[in-house]
Amino acid sequence: MNTEQVKTAFPTERDCMLFLIKKRELKTGSCAACGCMASDLKCYEERSCFVCCCNHFIYPRKDTIFENSKLPLQKWFLGIAYFNQHQKVTGQALSDFLDINYKSAYYMIQKLRKNNLQDFFQ
Ligand SMILES: [Zn+2]
Repeated sequence: MNTEQVKTAFPTERDCMLFLIKKRELKTGSCAACGCMASDLKCYEERSCFVCCCNHFIYPRKDTIFENSKLPLQKWFLGIAYFNQHQKVTGQALSDFLDINYKSAYYMIQKLRKNNLQDFFQ
């Protein structure tokens, strides 16, 4: 997926969060505890979690490279797509592209170099 496709596929934080849980907890598309559909879960973007009607909490960032980051997931997803296209990207270039500060961009590149995310969107 290129950066334009990421923008189209993940227009909101919630879309990114749903993608993450569908990759992991909700591979079947529903809550493991009660069977509710992932799309019916209540989304708390500011806490970066979903809550099901059965009171099951799901944290999409848990145990991922996004866990300790305050950046919106859409920035991360765009960063991943950009990095996959431009492996030699500098912190300054990524900072400009994502409109985030240099420190965050540099941190992101370190994470992306350590983790192979070529297949992230598949
Ligand atoms: Zn549930």
